[in-house]
Amino acid sequence: MAFENLQGKILAHYASHAEGKTRGYIGASMLGHACERRIWLEWNGAKIPPQDPEKLGSRQEKFDRGRHEEERLIKALQGAGYLVLDRQGAFSVLNGNFQGHIDGIILDEDGKKYVLEIKSANERNFTALQKKGIEAAFPGYYLQCQMYMHFLKIPQCLFLVVNKNNGEIYKAVFSENEAVISKGMAKLNKIISHGQDMPARLPADAAGVPTIVPCQYCEFFNFCWTQKRKAND
Ligand code: SF4
Repeated sequence: MAFENLQGKILAHYASHAEGKTRGYIGASMLGHACERRIWLEWNGAKIPPQDPEKLGSRQEKFDRGRHEEERLIKALQGAGYLVLDRQGAFSVLNGNFQGHIDGIILDEDGKKYVLEIKSANERNFTALQKKGIEAAFPGYYLQCQMYMHFLKIPQCLFLVVNKNNGEIYKAVFSENEAVISKGMAKLNKIISHGQDMPARLPADAAGVPTIVPCQYCEFFNFCWTQKRKAND
């Protein structure tokens, strides 16, 4: 049949150039993940077990689309007269074990600097953001921005989200939140303190089935759940 398994082949293409395959550090964008094992696997880079190609490809495809939206919006911001600096801005701390790469630094109308973070969202997530705000709707994104502000010493952030359905923009401006940063640092240190010992997977229900949403989308699903492993391994 012509174009058989086209979707699978496309996802395999995305998986073949997936970023983060062998990172070897914890990225600020990963720190808010619900699963400490998933974060630990990111940190352990080359030693990670095989990932599910379709989920890895799907993640990379979303990442590529997000980057495309980011580029478009930055061009539009510049076209609207805003100065966007440090597109390659980054930090690396804890001996390189924790790193962050920002979308940029933007200046407001008075010349004040803000960490700039851009995401894209489907209609459902966009509506959740509008209803609840970033901290409640997407605490992982909020934590990511908090870590950027903390380590780059820029105490305010402009967070923009593009609605993938219609191009509408969600905007949040917020400052450093010491309590969230401390919690993030505690989580980070806890994961790093595991050393070579992989943290436990997320809990399963009574039948041993992973009902937790992060597992359904995780590229380590097969590793964690479909091999014969010890109960909490
Ligand atoms: S499959 Fe679930 S338990 Fe395993 S690393 Fe991913 S999120 Fe964690």
